[in-house]
Amino acid sequence: MSALAQECGAINLAQGFPNFEIDPLLQESLIEAASASAHQYAPMAGLVGLREQISNLIAQQYNRNVDVSQILVTAGATQAIFTTIQALVHAGEEVVVLDPSYDCYEAPVLLSGATPVRLPLNANFKPNWDLISAHISTRTRMLIINNPHNPSGTIWDETDFQALEDIMLKHPNLLLLSDEVYEFITYSDRHQSINQRALIRDRAIIVSSFGKTFHITGWKLGYLVCSASLMKEIHKVHQFLVFSVNSVAQHALALYLKRVEVASLSEFYREKRDLFRSGMSRSRFELLPSQGSYFQVASYAPISTEPDTDFCIRLAKEFGVAAIPLSVFNANGEDRNLIRFCYAKTDDTLEAAIEKLCKI
Ligand code: PMP
Repeated sequence: MSALAQECGAINLAQGFPNFEIDPLLQESLIEAASASAHQYAPMAGLVGLREQISNLIAQQYNRNVDVSQILVTAGATQAIFTTIQALVHAGEEVVVLDPSYDCYEAPVLLSGATPVRLPLNANFKPNWDLISAHISTRTRMLIINNPHNPSGTIWDETDFQALEDIMLKHPNLLLLSDEVYEFITYSDRHQSINQRALIRDRAIIVSSFGKTFHITGWKLGYLVCSASLMKEIHKVHQFLVFSVNSVAQHALALYLKRVEVASLSEFYREKRDLFRSGMSRSRFELLPSQGSYFQVASYAPISTEPDTDFCIRLAKEFGVAAIPLSVFNANGEDRNLIRFCYAKTDDTLEAAIEKLCKI
């Protein structure tokens, strides 16, 4: 869709990346790091100074004390997810993935010789706990969850966490991969993390992404948090996949995390969300709730009944705005005439897109 957007000069609200400048404080931290001697291999698990800052962040946000040995700095969440699955999932096992799902879960499961079991979320994008429970057996090695959710922007409530705990307690060998890359982008409620769930967090691998948190997707820097015994296995793959990740970026983030107020991030995105939603309320699209992440799902049912992939191609070519069809996130291709817009864009970009979308 990004390629199509470029080809036909459409405004790109498709791919989930911000198009605005980074925080000047982060830029300063980067310059400082690049001017210092930060150019050789970092330690395998990540700079201790950065892992200390991550540990502080987890303590502040979630009141959990995590030793730096339980943190691994990765080349984005993608590598954290790949490494975790390669290290912990074996041939013949099953991994439950909830659809619509982001596309980086299935491939590492298949490469491990395991079977992805892709189960649909409910129509409101909340987990269908009865369905999940019915598909978890002794063969199931891992359940992958994503909250706040890409593509829907939905966030979990307490009943979801309790249902998850019930399942995890019923299946003592089940591992949990919790993709929380949008943890700092929630609106009505503060993010609830698996870091706060003492009953199950020792069997969880919690993944985050500085790319999402600080609008630096191109830096490809993220981290995971897990118990010492899981980390021992994960290190074995990480060591031979990347050994260690970009040293300058790690130094810069270690400096920046001392200077930044992470809690203000949601406010920044809330303004963008509200701008986009209020502009789009004049259009014929029907907007679903956007409780977290920087995605807005919209139904185009009042405009057309054509397949969502065809609609998105036409939207880019004829109307000049690129979006992502939701059916591509579903293993069964289910198409509910829904598309995803990314509102992590400058106000000018959003206003120009709204103007076009309101003409349809
Ligand atoms: N998980 C989800 C839900 C995502 O949306 C993304 C990025 N689009 C990732 C993981 C990958 O993050 P990173 O860019 O840090 O690899």
